[in-house]
Amino acid sequence: MKYKLQKFLDFQFDLTEPSKIRLLNAILLIVHLFLMVFYISIRETELIYANIGSLVFYSFAFYLLHLRKFILHYYLMYMEIMIHVAVCVVCLGWDKGFQNWLLGLCCIAMLPFASSIKSQKRIIHSIFLTAAMFIEYVTLMALDHFHRILDVSTLTVRESWWVLLANTVVAFYSIILFTTHFILHLAREHQLLYKQADFDALTGLKNRNGLQRDIKEMSYTDDRKKRTYTIAMIDIDYFKKFNDTYGHYSGDMILRQLADIFRMYDTDDITIARWGGEEFLIAANDAISHTAMLATLEDLRSYIAKHHFHVVNNTPVHVTISIGVSHCKEQEDLKIALECADQRLYEAKNSGRNRMVC
Ligand code: GH3
Ligand code: MG
Ligand code: MG
Repeated sequence: MKYKLQKFLDFQFDLTEPSKIRLLNAILLIVHLFLMVFYISIRETELIYANIGSLVFYSFAFYLLHLRKFILHYYLMYMEIMIHVAVCVVCLGWDKGFQNWLLGLCCIAMLPFASSIKSQKRIIHSIFLTAAMFIEYVTLMALDHFHRILDVSTLTVRESWWVLLANTVVAFYSIILFTTHFILHLAREHQLLYKQADFDALTGLKNRNGLQRDIKEMSYTDDRKKRTYTIAMIDIDYFKKFNDTYGHYSGDMILRQLADIFRMYDTDDITIARWGGEEFLIAANDAISHTAMLATLEDLRSYIAKHHFHVVNNTPVHVTISIGVSHCKEQEDLKIALECADQRLYEAKNSGRNRMVC
């Protein structure tokens, strides 16, 4: 179920993707084959001729797609549907509900252009198509209202009701399907942008942006009282030398494995980020006391020093980290706490590395 939902979300109705357009064309061809059976059964000659035209169009459309004339195909497809709806309404009457197809079509008009917003021009195409459908809808409605020429079918009241129901289902189904798809697609795009803005691509940890946003949220209690927090600046020891020895790719592997270790400490009250290069930052609010946090950080440092990391060819290696810790008081600026942590990290490096200074 989850996989199917994921597949649905991943489906992008992109005009440049030939397989999806071909599939749509095949579906419409099949729909018209079914419609042919229906028109023959109710002996509506005009509709049979109109439908032959549609069948010829969708067969010919495969050739257009073969020539990669996607935009032309798209417009012709819309024209075909609009003409077909008009003929159906004129031949069978407004009360059969064929005009409702236009409502469903409006949603689809917006979808391919808006789901890949690359240029303003594409939006104008969507607005143009929607406006055309609105004009057709109102014109057919006016024709029905003023001339009463439309209620001309030979269908019984009962049959008319079934046709109306089928057309209403088609219209609502398209509206629900395509608007849901569109909204979910936008939600995913939004999530992706949020991830790109706030997360580091290599380690998956938050970046500076994400960390600063998190710290803002963590800095106040539920009743908006300012909290204190512990800031720990972490830096890998001799990482340049490590890269020179094992290669940059192995260095990246270490950064990822370290991030996995740090992630284990990530809670609502502790936030962890890749501060830049081979530096990480951990911030914890006062839900965890400063002393308790110091003990946790010391455990982390000694755990990492003993841990077997793996690099290219599965070679086990050891790395160590140095940590500088500061305690950001209620009225203190985050910048000051960061400078203090950085200064202490420098002291940890100068006093031999693989240690914590607080
Ligand atoms: P120190 O113990 O004083 O921290 O020594 P160091 O070599 O770790 O410090 P330095 O700041 O001189 O070097 C940092 C190195 O981190 C340099 C750079 O090659 C490496 N580095 C930074 N970002 C990345 C990265 O994304 N991937 C890899 N593989 N290496 C990185
Ligand atoms: Mg560094
Ligand atoms: Mg370093």
